[in-house]
Formats: sequence, structure tokens, C-alpha cells
Amino acid sequence: MFDPKSLLRPHLRNLVPYSSARDEYSGREGVFLDANENSLGSAIDTAYQRYPDPYQRELKAKIAEIKGVEADHIFLGNGSDEPIDLLYRAFCEPDQDNVIITPPTYGMYEVSAGIHNVEVLKVNLTVDFHLKADEILATANSCTKIIWLCSPNNPTGNLIDKADIEKIIKSFDGIVVVDEAYIDFADQPSMTGVLDRYPNLVVLHTFSKAWGMAGLRLGAAFASREIVAILNLIKAPYNLSQATQLIALEAMNNESQVKQMVAVIIRLRRELAEQLSSLSQVEHIYPSDANFLLVRFREAQKVFDYLIAQKIIVRNRRKVVLCDEGLRITVGTREENLRLIDTLKNMPS
Ligand SMILES: *Cc1c(COP(=O)(O)O)cnc(C)c1O
Repeated sequence: MFDPKSLLRPHLRNLVPYSSARDEYSGREGVFLDANENSLGSAIDTAYQRYPDPYQRELKAKIAEIKGVEADHIFLGNGSDEPIDLLYRAFCEPDQDNVIITPPTYGMYEVSAGIHNVEVLKVNLTVDFHLKADEILATANSCTKIIWLCSPNNPTGNLIDKADIEKIIKSFDGIVVVDEAYIDFADQPSMTGVLDRYPNLVVLHTFSKAWGMAGLRLGAAFASREIVAILNLIKAPYNLSQATQLIALEAMNNESQVKQMVAVIIRLRRELAEQLSSLSQVEHIYPSDANFLLVRFREAQKVFDYLIAQKIIVRNRRKVVLCDEGLRITVGTREENLRLIDTLKNMPS
């Protein structure tokens, strides 16, 4: 039976976590003279003088409802960047352990590995952006602690075959992370539905994309109670501010608006793909299950520079492995998309 504690870095096995003043009393009413807060009030009208709930219980209860995952299987972070960082801190011994990534994929897995001085092994996706599951499993060695998968994948936009993902989860003795930042735009259910089956699975969601709250910084890791307990052990005590918790709590009431926005974005994605496909500069539009399109151009750098000069900013991925001449274009509003298309139509050749 998989036990994440056996994967934990040795120096963390007996760590005594920070005990916050509020851990000793969980009631809301009382005279709070325990945390050296300002008893008179805040510098602004909103009452921010109290330290926030370190475990974000109210917010987690709402997210549990929305995502269909029990609250004690949820870790919340300051963006999904925070659980990414914490997973390295928990499981990867610097200069000794390694992780596997599958380029082309999200850049943070490798950046974070670099920050923690953890080796990155790479098994590229196939040319049509699917996993080489057997090669990934053959690459894993006794020092491989985490396999990072991303579905729908950034920057390619496609969903990764669930059977391949499950094969890796079943056959690998470490942590498998499936980053589902764009899952709301895909017509496939989240891997959170199979969490109960896989004690080594971590599913990452973010509120930066479909929920439109990139500026707020809120991400979630869904995993076994044991893995959630490990992340809680090593996180900063008050990792989500009271402002984040209050605003996010309010946003959770607006799930139906989010679903409407997602439906509109999916429609606009199809329209944008159609319009792009008629342009002379465009060579190929990759299928997308996300809120962006990876587009191969005839001369991507020229197109990119021209668009910048016209104050239209897209993401240049032309040097990324398997993404030759690729630009990643986020689906905009109808007007923004039309401006992009018109601008490209008027590009001097
Ligand atoms: C945008 C994105 C995220 C979101 O990160 P946050 O820190 O939550 O904003 C995570 N993973 C992938 C693959 C992304 O593209």
C-alpha cells in the first residue's frame, strides 16, 4: 500500500509544525488577547485585524460542494504555484531526487525544480502531444519522486489520454500530479473523480482561468488525506489572506456565471479557430480543450513582432520543443478576436 510518509524527506518526518495562537481555541466568540493583533481595529474599514483561518474551513466547505471532493481532501494555496512548490519541499531531496516532466508543458514544474535544486528528467510527448507512458515508466528510477502531467496541456491545449495517465499512476510508486488548470474548458470530467482509487494522485486546479481570478491567487490541490496533511504540515501558517478567503467565498456563489462564461469562451474558441484557418500566414491550428489555441505559422517570429507592434500580445512558443513556429493565442472577447484577425489580414507580406 502506497504511503506518502515513506516518500517524505527524512528531515520532515519528525517536524513539529508552527502552532498558531488560534490553534488553541476554535470558537468565534471571545476576548482574543492571544495573537498580538490590533484590538482597536484596522487601518481600513473592513475588519482585517484578525489573523485568518489557517485551514480556510469555510472556503473549503464551499469548494468541496462545487468540486464534489470532501474538504479533508483539499489543500488551498496562493495560486497552484504554491502546491507545486510545496510538493518539491515535501518529497524531493535537493541534489539527490528527481522528477519527470513531459515537454512541451507548463514551465513552472521545471522552474520550481531549479529553485529546489532537484533534477528534471524529460520524456517528450509524441508529435501529436500524447504521453509515452511506457517510456515515462522506464525513465523513473529509485530517486524519482514526482511525475508531472498536465491535462489539458499547456501550451498544446489538448487533453491527455486518461488511460495513459491511469497506467502511470498505477505503475509508479511516487506521486503523480495531474495539473487540470484548464479542465473547465474540456468536455471530460476531472480526475478528482478517481482520487479514492489512487492514494498517490494529486490533482491541481486553479481559480485563475475559468473562474477569472488570476489576480486573486487561489489554487487547489486535491489528494488523499495523508498528502493533504503533509502539505498542511509544511505550508506557511496563514498562506491565504483573509481578503482572499472572503472574496473567494463570495465568488463561489457565482458558479453558474462561470459556467456561462466557459460556454461562451468555448464558442469563441471555435470561431477564432475557423477565422484563423482562413489566413495565409497560418499553417496549422492544433485542437484545443482549453481557453487558448496553439497555432503554427509560416513565419512565427515575423507574425509575433508585427502583432506586438500593433499592441496585440500573444505567447511566443516557437522555440519550445515540438512547438516549432508556434504561437499560443488566448481566446479573447469577440471584439479582441476580430481585431487580431483583421490585424493579421492587413499584415504586409
Ligand atoms: C495558468 C496555469 C496554472 C495556474 O497557476 P496559478 O498559480 O494558479 O495562477 C497552473 N498550471 C497550468 C498548466 C497553467 O497553465
